[in-house]
Amino acid sequence: KHWVYAFKAGQADGDASMKALLGGKGANLAEMSSLNLPVPAGFTITTEACVHYYQNNSELPAGLVDEVETNLAHLEKTTAKGFGDVANPLLVSVRSGARASMPGMMDTVLNLGLNDATVEGLTALTGDSRFALDCYRRFITMYSNVVLGVNHHSFEDILDDHKDRLGVTIDTDITAKDWERIIADYKAMVKSELGRDFPQDPKDQLWGAIRAVFGSWMNDRAKFYRKMHDIPEDWGTAVNIQSMVFGNMGNTSATGVAFTRNPSTGDSDLYGEFLLNAQGEDVVAGIRTPQALTKKAREDMGERSLSMEESLPEVFAQFKTTVDTLENHYRDVQDVEFTVEQGKLYMLQTRNAKRTSKAALKIAVDMAKEGLITPQEALMRIDPGTLDQLLHPMLDPKADKTVIAKGLPASPGAASGKIVFTAEDAVRYAAAGEDVILVRDETSPEDIKGMYAAKAIVTARGGMTSHAAVVARGMGRPCVSGAGEMQIYAERGEFASRGQTYRHGEIITLDGSTGEIMKGAIRMIEPDFSEDFHQIMAWADDYKRLDIRANAETPADARTALGFGAKGIGLCRTEHMFFDEDRITAVREMILADDEAGRRKALAKIEPMQRKDFTELFQIMDGLPVTIRLLDPPLHEFLPHTEEDIAHVAETSGIGADKLYKRTKELSETNPMLGWRGCRLGITFPEIYESQLNALFNAAVDVLEGGGDPHPEIMHPLVATQEEMAKLSALTHDVAKIVFAARGKTLAYKVGTMIELPRAALMANRLAETAEFFSFGTNDLTQTTFGISRDDSGRFLNPYIEKGIFEKDPFVSLDQDGVGALIEMAVAKGKATRPDIKLGLCGEHGGDPASIAFCHKVGLAYVSCSPYRVPVARLAAAQAAI
Ligand code: PEP
Ligand code: MG
Repeated sequence: KHWVYAFKAGQADGDASMKALLGGKGANLAEMSSLNLPVPAGFTITTEACVHYYQNNSELPAGLVDEVETNLAHLEKTTAKGFGDVANPLLVSVRSGARASMPGMMDTVLNLGLNDATVEGLTALTGDSRFALDCYRRFITMYSNVVLGVNHHSFEDILDDHKDRLGVTIDTDITAKDWERIIADYKAMVKSELGRDFPQDPKDQLWGAIRAVFGSWMNDRAKFYRKMHDIPEDWGTAVNIQSMVFGNMGNTSATGVAFTRNPSTGDSDLYGEFLLNAQGEDVVAGIRTPQALTKKAREDMGERSLSMEESLPEVFAQFKTTVDTLENHYRDVQDVEFTVEQGKLYMLQTRNAKRTSKAALKIAVDMAKEGLITPQEALMRIDPGTLDQLLHPMLDPKADKTVIAKGLPASPGAASGKIVFTAEDAVRYAAAGEDVILVRDETSPEDIKGMYAAKAIVTARGGMTSHAAVVARGMGRPCVSGAGEMQIYAERGEFASRGQTYRHGEIITLDGSTGEIMKGAIRMIEPDFSEDFHQIMAWADDYKRLDIRANAETPADARTALGFGAKGIGLCRTEHMFFDEDRITAVREMILADDEAGRRKALAKIEPMQRKDFTELFQIMDGLPVTIRLLDPPLHEFLPHTEEDIAHVAETSGIGADKLYKRTKELSETNPMLGWRGCRLGITFPEIYESQLNALFNAAVDVLEGGGDPHPEIMHPLVATQEEMAKLSALTHDVAKIVFAARGKTLAYKVGTMIELPRAALMANRLAETAEFFSFGTNDLTQTTFGISRDDSGRFLNPYIEKGIFEKDPFVSLDQDGVGALIEMAVAKGKATRPDIKLGLCGEHGGDPASIAFCHKVGLAYVSCSPYRVPVARLAAAQAAI
């Protein structure tokens, strides 16, 4: 077994399929080398070596040292340089690279191999002492920080003092002589902090860096990032050691990052940034503001400094061909890093680009239309969960707004919130339920928790590929970066822009699609769907087998659902119709009635209102099924609870406070979710269901008479026994018969039940004798299968997830093993009795992609979810079928 895999242009031990072993970066460096692209030679230490390191008390695996030595010797040969050779030094970069990309979370060291002697060699070799010293000071800073743990502020302080002394503001104005003095101060500071000299032996430097990269797999931000993205702890990182090429060798040298298409909008133009005479970290860190790659992009942005296309036209042409080759080869948008050393191009990295959900849609659709991928592949390229981002509100273009600053449109979407200046504040305020906007000079990977907690992020510095921009896009947070007109005084808790000052806690709004930052909260509007969205949805409908319905009871929700492509209503919770101002009094009167006659009197007031509600739903969902569930919750939910409420209701309703109080007490249950609710109400007070049935059958006939096509499905909640089902089914048919006879019209309808109790699943064959459909109510079925309250289990669910007892919250993603087993059993038993039984699911899980895949697998006919999840569900259902 090898611990090390080598690569050089035209030849590699590994390839792109070996991401698990070589990490994403290592595998793609190998692949690019095999494609004969200009990749600096190097080698990759495997993730297995890192795993070994962690399993064995930070010991390196036997054989690793030898393999690294051998590969280093080969690298010396390939490059015709010597590691530590004073006359002709080989310098290397040492970079992390896990299986999944974790941008900026782990460590990197550049320019390794420099010391007091080789820096002289580099000077002699290049004839440029300023360049050599610039590399050396970068190396000392980076190595001391990453490997030796010296705070980088200590270096910045020294540099700032010298700049003040010299009266210069930018690094490139510092002369070689002055860099020498600064480097001497750096080394002295390191020595005084660590009590030993900065390491001069390149081999010591190399092993220090390798161990540091291994170590960075377990740093706090890497751990947090993995948790957020479900990346397993035991993967480990690979280490890539590659001969250095220099973007800081004068004005024919450069470094940059690029995307083969725009990762924010999806536009197919090459997109990226570069800096002349700089090293890679300068671009990513956002310290200098980078320039555009193409002439067009420069002109679009109205910038003056020349693009790469203009300033280095030949290299640019070669670069363009290279990235086109990569995109065609990988059949996906590539995110590349490159360096130009004195007019020669080198590719340092390629990977499939992270992108916004809007861009993901556009890119998938464009690539399918270009014939690069199939429509099925296009569908598989989109994470259904991220569609949500597109369905959310954006700024109302007609709203008044006062723009207080403008930056780059780094991640789309709009958000309002209170200004905070630190990641800690963002976390704290968000935990207290406040919406906050994190405002920073620039973000670093340390800020990741704060970025996650914030509604959106603003930075004063950095480009579209700065840390803030990349991470925000990945998280789906709106972000404006590089808002250079803002002066941020984080310690004082304020920022200034355009002559005004804004303080911690003040509300601002930002629009990550335009780069604008505005005062106060701005009105938002519903999003406007792109052609691409409709194309993806149309393809999804071609491939999915499951129908998607919506859980809706108001006309507004029903219309939204229809607009999102719902094929009917899978759950209309009729109790939601009982709370409206105009009917809650009658509902209370019904509950407080002493006898059936009293209840009927009150129900007679509610019935016409329900009839009207149902009529509207049938009209909106014309020709589509509408599943109406009869009253489900315990009656006490409709009664006032606090003494104050009781007094208020007594006064407004004319019902005596004493009676109200007494009845509330009578109806109160310790565990109402397992109490007198669901069909138990319909069995004990049949007049309630009778009235609802009357309303809904009359509504259906009304719609029919109006030329419509209503398809009612009547659903009984919380059924456990076949006797309940038989009674409720008979009641339903009786009312239908009476209404149809009275109106002289009939229409088709279905009667069915929810499966929400384990016993219902166990006895599904018996229930199916009278039930024509089942709809799995997985909210209650999860609660009753686990014996965990859906309302207040939050207190121990998180610890359960942290301890790995639950992988995910079972109320969010279906427990396919346990609850799933009950569903599979009920499906089989239901079909055994009634082969054409209609099967669906209407719990919250109906909008969760993993649960939808399960529903597809067990052969349900539909899932029903909240209106905004309908597109997510359509796509997830297609992915399940592909
Ligand atoms: C369910 O229990 O899954 C369900 C859909 O019904 P409700 O959430 O109204 O109890
Ligand atoms: Mg339920």
